[in-house]
Amino acid sequence: VQDYLQQIKAYAHLNVFNEVFEQDALASAKEVDARIKAGNAGRLAGMVISIKDNICYKDHKVSASSRILEDFTSIYSATIVERLLAQDAIIIGRCNCDEFAMGAANENSFFGPVKNFADETKVSGGSSGGSAVAVQANMCHAAIGTDTGGSVRQPASFCGVVGFKPSYGRISRYGIISYASSFDQVGTLTRSVEDAALLFEILAGADEYDSTLSQKPVPPLANFKSDTSKKKIAYLKEAITSPGVDEEVKNKLSSYIDKLKAEGHVVEPISFEYLDYLVPSYYILAMAEASSNLARYDGVHYGYRSPNATDLTSTYKISRSEGFGKEVKRRIMLGTFVLSAGYYDAYYAKAQKVRKLIRDKTNEILKEYDFILTPTAPEPAFEIGKKEKDPVVTYLYDIFTVQASLAGLPAISLPVGNNTNGLPLGLQLLAGGFKEEDLLNFSEYFL
Ligand code: GLN
Repeated sequence: VQDYLQQIKAYAHLNVFNEVFEQDALASAKEVDARIKAGNAGRLAGMVISIKDNICYKDHKVSASSRILEDFTSIYSATIVERLLAQDAIIIGRCNCDEFAMGAANENSFFGPVKNFADETKVSGGSSGGSAVAVQANMCHAAIGTDTGGSVRQPASFCGVVGFKPSYGRISRYGIISYASSFDQVGTLTRSVEDAALLFEILAGADEYDSTLSQKPVPPLANFKSDTSKKKIAYLKEAITSPGVDEEVKNKLSSYIDKLKAEGHVVEPISFEYLDYLVPSYYILAMAEASSNLARYDGVHYGYRSPNATDLTSTYKISRSEGFGKEVKRRIMLGTFVLSAGYYDAYYAKAQKVRKLIRDKTNEILKEYDFILTPTAPEPAFEIGKKEKDPVVTYLYDIFTVQASLAGLPAISLPVGNNTNGLPLGLQLLAGGFKEEDLLNFSEYFL
């Protein structure tokens, strides 16, 4: 813990943590040491973990990197926090992220952007940017993030770490601040696939506080073995042909395709017929759900209340106007619009139908193939401030990650080396529903 605290202090300018639980972490470390000596320590004893600042931890502040949750303290812990602590993990702090997890560059945080450890002029990715850099910069052993449309996988690829999002319904969302509930999933940022498998075993599984969870048994870490059998893998043709994908990203993908083929795996190009509809349907649905979820921040129940409010209506209006950032307000307005009586059928209902088509088609592909291989993001980390002005450009960045989210499937971003400027590159592997074991076992191939 002391080593990590030192590193956190030395690189405080990267803006990774919204709060470091220094005293808490040191005190827990002493207790865990005692349990290790007594021979009754948990399976994560000594594992120092940071959590994204949208995960509730009893008696600790949680902000979702928003002003609207200023000075709000959790009165209970998320199920995943309980499970980590029950196994003697030590939680070292809460990490910066995009406000309410809305973003792909960690530039929408009330507390400012997180800088990439590989190049401080570049973004960390988002929305779990702080969690990714915390692992990249050795400020903890592993980090917990959330992934609604790519928020664990994309920052993992920008920071050269492993980012794993299990199937929808695997890990409890109880105590996670909601963004878009039919997509939100907890995921892990780790240095190895084995750590991802270990945390998956600890965190996943039924929870009476989250009725969307599957009762399917969770594979134990003992099942985790590097799988060298021959696979059938599809890759998106457009990832190689589209002008929107960076040349070095394309080359990296191509080199893996060639290598896999040379070693006897079947690797074939596919065209996904709904490719152009992935990002629009994701954003319509995510914004609709967000507008509904964020209605609870009314200046009365939680966090920030404007000192300029004079009555109930102005408490709602002014507190929300002052408490939410620009991107969050944009999404609340668009989400409200697509849910409104006159436009519901044209946008929200239609996007739901498209989501079903995307899910069915993706599952059909995954009946024929073991995995779908894509880049995680079309480009490596970009310059801080470069894309901030055009939200649509940033939304299109999610082209490869939202398919797994729309279909509720497990996917992982694997670090596959750096580009010529020393920026990390990531490839994404997507598997069939609840096939985390197959996915993790084959992921070793890339590391
Ligand atoms: N970039 C996507 C969005 O802004 C994904 C965010 C996430 O997964 N939380 O919605």
